[in-house]
Amino acid sequence: MKVDYTRFLSGRVSYIEPSPIREMVSKIARKSREAGVISFAAGEPDPDVIPRRVYGELAREVFEDKRSVNYSPTEGVLELREEIAAFMKKYEGVSSTVENIIVTLGGSQALDLAARLMINPGEVVLTENPSYVNTVLDWKQWGAIVVGVKMDENGVDTHELENTVKKLKRDGIVVKLVYTIPTGQNPSGITMSTERRKHLLEVASEHDLLVVEDGAYNYLVYEPVEVRSLKSMDSEGRVIFVGSFSKVLGTGLRVGWLHLPEELAEKFRAAKGPTDMCPPVPSQLLVLQVLRRGLFEEIRNRAVEAYRRKRDLMLRAIEEYMSRLKHTKPIAGMFILLWLPSHIDGWKFSEEALEKYSVAVIPAAPFFTDNSGKSVIRLNFSMVPENDIEEGIKRLTQLIKEKSPS
Ligand code: PMP
Repeated sequence: MKVDYTRFLSGRVSYIEPSPIREMVSKIARKSREAGVISFAAGEPDPDVIPRRVYGELAREVFEDKRSVNYSPTEGVLELREEIAAFMKKYEGVSSTVENIIVTLGGSQALDLAARLMINPGEVVLTENPSYVNTVLDWKQWGAIVVGVKMDENGVDTHELENTVKKLKRDGIVVKLVYTIPTGQNPSGITMSTERRKHLLEVASEHDLLVVEDGAYNYLVYEPVEVRSLKSMDSEGRVIFVGSFSKVLGTGLRVGWLHLPEELAEKFRAAKGPTDMCPPVPSQLLVLQVLRRGLFEEIRNRAVEAYRRKRDLMLRAIEEYMSRLKHTKPIAGMFILLWLPSHIDGWKFSEEALEKYSVAVIPAAPFFTDNSGKSVIRLNFSMVPENDIEEGIKRLTQLIKEKSPS
């Protein structure tokens, strides 16, 4: 008898949507094996900026530690949690104890846990529009209805956010959670202004909301401006902070963390335990060594210098060849959003750019929570070699011309 697998799937499966950019990403991976492909598609640090040889030396020590091949506590190796608590003080201005810290498989697991523990199916959560597509898809898997709030160059429009909360309340819908990436946002590269940050916390207090602050890009800030985490301004304990070492130390390490109010930490720990036992211990011990020896600061400084240069080269090329097109001017993160002329479809453009011009970009439409991103593409500047940036932008300019009526 042929098996009807649909009968075996749970009702929750109806919430699972395939990632719309997955196919594009595999096409890019296939094409990237050919010579001459320029990729603006990544969302990762440049592996040549990361001191892999030093990691190799540290790895020897890591594996001399017997703990490396055993489980750690589900909330992470104690010394690493102590280092992360000190890191939160130094880099985020947040006082904490180890009780506030849970080490996770990158920020991704932290974000998934937040949804798993806090979202009931059918509940509305608010995000920036556009927002990070993986969190949106993940939170939908837990039954969230994701409503995006418009952004401008100062971040999410917090007045609009408050109006949305009020409007929903009038319709009998209570909002509990807001998801934000306030610094170097993915996909826009936008950093929220201090006033907006303050206002967001005021709105959270007024309407009894919790804010999930995704700090994935917090350590890649290119201008000498003070960017304070929401968590550091949070006097009422309304912010759950999601941290990650991915974007500085390497995405493959899979080390991130949650900074939680103690009242929530126990529930998160209990929920996490059966799912992973613990994050990979060799990675935890490696990050511990990196932090203890003060290497994080060195690696970060190198990354900031390298990516600042690449950002400047990309912005200069965009301004030289595509000066009429709207684009973001990030002071942090890894991305620039580019609005193509409105008659150009971002998906088709991305496919043609790859096939005809060997330039990989990501269509930004899936990051938008409405239909407003059809002609928008996302460009990454951290991973592409400096020498390829101008050439890549020139090729994209050529394709735009080709697709525009003369
Ligand atoms: N948040 C944002 C905004 C991201 O862009 C990413 C990575 N693309 C993540 C979280 C997750 O990264 P990781 O799990 O490697 O920490």
